[in-house]
Amino acid sequence: MLLAVLDEIQNGAYQDNLITITPELVASFRHYWQALVTSDYWIERMNIPFRYLYQDGFWHFRRNGEEVRPEDKPYSLLQLSHDFDGIFLSQDLWQLLQEPSAVNALWAHLLQSYFGLPPTTVSRPNTHNLLDYEAEKLKAEAQSKFRIRKLRENSGDNGYYIRHALFPRVVKTMYNNACAVCGLAVHTEQSGGIVDAAHILPFSEFHYDHPRNGIALCKNHHWGFDAGWFGISDDYKILISPHLLNGLGYAMAGKAIQLPSDAVHAPAQAALAWHRDNKFLK
Ligand SMILES: [Zn+2]
Repeated sequence: MLLAVLDEIQNGAYQDNLITITPELVASFRHYWQALVTSDYWIERMNIPFRYLYQDGFWHFRRNGEEVRPEDKPYSLLQLSHDFDGIFLSQDLWQLLQEPSAVNALWAHLLQSYFGLPPTTVSRPNTHNLLDYEAEKLKAEAQSKFRIRKLRENSGDNGYYIRHALFPRVVKTMYNNACAVCGLAVHTEQSGGIVDAAHILPFSEFHYDHPRNGIALCKNHHWGFDAGWFGISDDYKILISPHLLNGLGYAMAGKAIQLPSDAVHAPAQAALAWHRDNKFLK
């Protein structure tokens, strides 16, 4: 865990003393886990060290700007990233780690003292490439058979977290970052865009980040879709709820949605049918 944190500090990922859970940090953790842990007895879960380093005295949790104690319960990575701002290191340690040579020395010391390895035997991760690889893997899942599944919310493993973190990027790319209903694609480099990767089977219930459970929608149509204002037919046409008042201009009934250029990425029929049966205001 600490090797991954040191790398991210050295990469300039944390300008302030607030270590947040990011896909890059998790990818870095994965890299070190795979390089250093040879026993199958241990399961690769970053939520465990991220939670329990608290006991070592230099690793402090922050929520709403205040230092807090984590509760005595298992946290998944998603819960850790939602429930806390992040963690901060003891101030003297943080000060020390502003010096690249100190980061390198501590990195080498951890490898030597905990794993008995000289630093030259372990490579530093290229998190950019690792995440590109994971995104391609997730995108390729569109080709596998889609069936409705409910995953456990507490699936705390790193693969689950990385998939969830990459889901928006993968889905939005499939739709060229444009809303499937209205085509809006406005964005800025800094703040992202108006387009979300919406889950058709709601994430809060299914926790299912299959690419064909996703559809790119602007915030306006994302909200309306979740509220059941409109549904999508088996032939990918817009169905407008008869309950919609003053809905002129919101979306055009019978109009085909904009599908991804590759037909294999189109929303899963089973998910759209579930949405019509359970969310769409009939
Ligand atoms: Zn839209």
